[in-house]
Amino acid sequence: MSRPRGYLLDLDGTLISGRRLLPGVAALVAETGGRFAIVSNDAEHTPHELARLLGRLGLVVAAERIVLAGTTAIDLVAQRHPGARVMLLAGPALERYARRRGLRLSTGACDIIIVGRDRRFSYRRLAAAAHAVSLGAKLVLACPDTHHRGPLGEPVPEVGALAASILSCAGAGECEVVGKPEPLLFRLGCERLGLPPQEVVMIGDNPATDGKGAMRAGMRFLHVRPGDFVEGLGAMERKVA
Ligand SMILES: [Mg+2]
Repeated sequence: MSRPRGYLLDLDGTLISGRRLLPGVAALVAETGGRFAIVSNDAEHTPHELARLLGRLGLVVAAERIVLAGTTAIDLVAQRHPGARVMLLAGPALERYARRRGLRLSTGACDIIIVGRDRRFSYRRLAAAAHAVSLGAKLVLACPDTHHRGPLGEPVPEVGALAASILSCAGAGECEVVGKPEPLLFRLGCERLGLPPQEVVMIGDNPATDGKGAMRAGMRFLHVRPGDFVEGLGAMERKVA
């Protein structure tokens, strides 16, 4: 198989764990010679925030090379429904981002609910979201993940768990998923690299999202576990081939 010309890198469990850079990551990223983009189901930060955070950990990445599920979900809704009335279940950074994209944020009546990683999720927010769904509001999930593992192996609630509570309360509702394993983030990542999917390898720790999505997008997939990166890029590429 031909040598990949670019790489899409997952973030959590692949490059970082908690607020720690995983071993070998800085060297491997340098070895790619800049031929990479990060694609993550992160539904809490903007690419600029994440670039700053990674910079503090010692990994210099331009925000333009970071594709995130939360901001992509907002971009998608803003493109399709300019000026829509949106209930955004997410943190302050995504609220500011959504307003800059021209969305009108509401905590009650709305056309669309975007579910991100909302650390302020509450009984009140659940009730408001379920009510809106029962009145016909469409649910857009930044990603389907129900949880990710924290530094001690504990489950940390994610978008899918919040959405499940809304849908279970509302009965049923229309639902769209933006993040991995859906193909959009992979497509956007390849666009940032200026390469077709066949020439790009997805590197990630989750076969259900990174692997399944890569396959759907027509890309090869390399499944990694924390620490695999110390082998270097050449050894990893041989595994893909
Ligand atoms: Mg991961």
